Amino acid sequence: MAETEHHRLREVSLGDQRSLTIHRFGQPGARPKVYVQAGIHANELAAPLTAHHLADRLKAADEAGQVVGEILVVPIANPIGLSQVQSGEHFGRHDLETGGNYNRAFFDVSEAVLQAVMGRLGSDAAENTRSVRSAVLNALNDVTPRFAIDDLHIELQKRACDADIVLDLHTDSDAEMHLFLDPTQWPAAEDLASELGVEVVMLARASGSNPFEETIAAPYVAVHEAHGEDHPIDVPLTVVVELRGLADVSDELAGQDADALMRFLQRRGCLAGDPGAQPPFTGVAAPFEQTTFLWATAPGIVAFKKPLGAMVAAGDVVAEIIDVSAMATDGARTPVLAETSGKFFARSLTKLARPGQDIGKIFGTTPVEGRVGDLLSD
Ligand SMILES: [Zn+2]
Repeated sequence: MAETEHHRLREVSLGDQRSLTIHRFGQPGARPKVYVQAGIHANELAAPLTAHHLADRLKAADEAGQVVGEILVVPIANPIGLSQVQSGEHFGRHDLETGGNYNRAFFDVSEAVLQAVMGRLGSDAAENTRSVRSAVLNALNDVTPRFAIDDLHIELQKRACDADIVLDLHTDSDAEMHLFLDPTQWPAAEDLASELGVEVVMLARASGSNPFEETIAAPYVAVHEAHGEDHPIDVPLTVVVELRGLADVSDELAGQDADALMRFLQRRGCLAGDPGAQPPFTGVAAPFEQTTFLWATAPGIVAFKKPLGAMVAAGDVVAEIIDVSAMATDGARTPVLAETSGKFFARSLTKLARPGQDIGKIFGTTPVEGRVGDLLSD
């Protein structure tokens, strides 16, 4: 039966107590285990609203005895970021105490787990997976958090680290629905993409900065790669779901997305019930490296020349940055060109540009030559 845990986060300022709320459905310890969190970037409000709608549906399903395993929902994964308001502006993406992006620098315990299970795995995948899960939890228990953001990270990881399916709900700035997941999970995860009506699936591993979903999968991937098929384990499905953009916050969208997640969970055997026929996947899926950014090269106000979701060709003018202090005849407009052909799937909601800022993303139809550095924008 549904239960709600309120975990007190470490107090960092006298008299200022925060807590994590964790809804649990089904039987503790039962499989499959599903973990859903929302709003580690605390300004991405479609995520917690969707989690709220999902939790309502799961509560009803639980009362009807339809939860097969165990499902955890953390509707507000970042109460610290949710509370960060200065002079009326909300800051939910970066931690004001450390400057860190809330979805970077989670704890990768792969090395400790590899050491712990070395020579101890057999041929039984279920038994091996149990050993790895317990090594992961032990390694996380050994971490001493430094700042409040670290304490938050470790508490989230402890609850997600042994799940079969992990969904991390976000939004982009202004975007179509898209997913990030490990290349080995595609096309198996087409059921999730097609239920949600996802337009773009980015296949990524080790994007360079230890976001949540990658550090949950990392120890399992490391053990799988080190031990091969002789010592099989089950690698969890960990996915970032980008629920469109910052402004796409409504009961209608959140309800629709929660319904899609319920059908996905039914299809995966986590919930009883018939999800109906699986809709076709009509989006594009390819390595994350095929994404290119649109960079601002001048200060000014951005006017997009292509609609969100448009297919563009390399060299197309996707946006113009306007120096509104100049006359149109005096070169007031700086064009921003597509570096690659592909889908213009994400762009900046704010239209004030500074040189060096990324104002949009194109998911290329071909690999991008010379792509280097971390894959995620900060
Ligand atoms: Zn985010």
